[in-house]
Amino acid sequence: MAKITIDHDKCEGADCAECIDVCPMEILILDGDKVVVQHKEDCSLCEVCMDVCPNEAVEVEDDD
Ligand code: SF4
Ligand code: SF4
Repeated sequence: MAKITIDHDKCEGADCAECIDVCPMEILILDGDKVVVQHKEDCSLCEVCMDVCPNEAVEVEDDD
């Protein structure tokens, strides 16, 4: 399963939301101003969230 980590010290949350827009599986969502992870078992490990993040605040690893 994917291990998805958001570094909230680096993340701009609702002011950015780029990763939320690009995730094809709707894993990354906003909870208030904050990016949170939901049903990570559906993550396809496509890494587009990592590619799009301007702050390297999201990290996805395969954690099988
Ligand atoms: S790796 Fe892909 S499916 Fe997984 S959270 Fe990032 S954008 Fe979504
Ligand atoms: S793309 Fe990066 S900075 Fe923007 S909301 Fe996602 S994790 Fe935060």
